Amino acid sequence: MPLTKSWVTAANDPDGPFPLDNLPYGVFSTDTLDPRPGVAIGDQILDMATAESTGLVQLTELPLFDAPYWNELMEEGPAVWAALRDRLTSLLKDGAPERAKVEPLLVPMAEAELHMPFMVCEYTDFYAGRHHATNVGTIFRGADNALPPNWLHIPIGYNGRASTVVVSGTDITRPLGQTKAPDAESPSFGPCRRLDIELELGAIVGTGNEMGEPITLDQADAMIFGYVLLNDWSARDIQAWEYQPLGPFQAKAFATSISPWIVTKAALEPFRVNAPERLKPLLPYLQDTGPMCYNIALEVEMAPPDGEAQTIARTNARELYYSSAQQLTHHALCGCEMNTGDLLGSGTISGPEKDQRGSLLELTWSGKEPLHLSDGTARSFIEDGDTLTLKGWAQGDGYKIGFGDCTGTILPAPTMPK
Ligand code: CA
Repeated sequence: MPLTKSWVTAANDPDGPFPLDNLPYGVFSTDTLDPRPGVAIGDQILDMATAESTGLVQLTELPLFDAPYWNELMEEGPAVWAALRDRLTSLLKDGAPERAKVEPLLVPMAEAELHMPFMVCEYTDFYAGRHHATNVGTIFRGADNALPPNWLHIPIGYNGRASTVVVSGTDITRPLGQTKAPDAESPSFGPCRRLDIELELGAIVGTGNEMGEPITLDQADAMIFGYVLLNDWSARDIQAWEYQPLGPFQAKAFATSISPWIVTKAALEPFRVNAPERLKPLLPYLQDTGPMCYNIALEVEMAPPDGEAQTIARTNARELYYSSAQQLTHHALCGCEMNTGDLLGSGTISGPEKDQRGSLLELTWSGKEPLHLSDGTARSFIEDGDTLTLKGWAQGDGYKIGFGDCTGTILPAPTMPK
């Protein structure tokens, strides 16, 4: 499918992230406008609060865009999601008769501050990348026991913290924690020394299920509203000491960053791909019913303090072994109630090659093979002042569906209050 042309000129740039085929949803403010829902188009943001209050966009009797998050639209379900996308397309496409009414509602992106696009209800972190799970298993347990025996049968996950999910651009404070070196007799306390990223795709649950009622894979796919890039910051030294037997806790609870624009499932439809070959047959409830993974190019950039950013990894979301729909189906299988605004992290996405790894733990092979940066320094893990940025886009025929960067800079650890 070629690009759909817009009268917003910048939206027709073949290398721009926000063409009319994308229409991602965020929350923005300016010097004069309070935080409110907005839609990215080219280098502009359409102010949805005003579009609704002036009657230009009216989908329901009660307002959907009078609060600074997209949850109210998400709750309405797929028919209203589709109606909004249709309406926005007709307002913004080339030759739109209502152009004169829409133009005053556009805010230059350069003048806007971006905020969390939705209220995160609960956050679950999966482990659905096979190359990542194999690499980490090899580092910690050796190549013979790399994948745990359940891995090819279950999308493994744990319940994380929604309270510390933050929007791109938020500084991240290095966590304090308890660690124990393998040869130490007792644990010690202090700042994390093996601070890492995890390159993930975040799926946002639009509509929920009832407690006690499992859902099919197709139902799960229909419940997903959209996707963001997600950096699940990780404290590897804290994780290694705490994780047995209940899994990660403090090592993951201090921060998770997401990109500021929700890229809708509708925008990603042309980029669906089949999951990788199944190494073991899945149980019937998890069996693929169609292409539910996505061809999304992903990159990680690292910038030392005052230094140039350089790309340290390139991979693709199609490397995920379990789709977000499979993660959601498995999550609800026991009768767990899923709700509007639940966020599912995919797990780190790594490809088969060395420069396709989505964490420093893998890229530096647990610090044994440091990365060399353009400023002449080397990194085993992240140092204070470093900035890490995730980038992602789906490549269409003459256009891109961009995600907007997911970035964060590391601040020094705090001191404990006396
Ligand atoms: Ca993770």
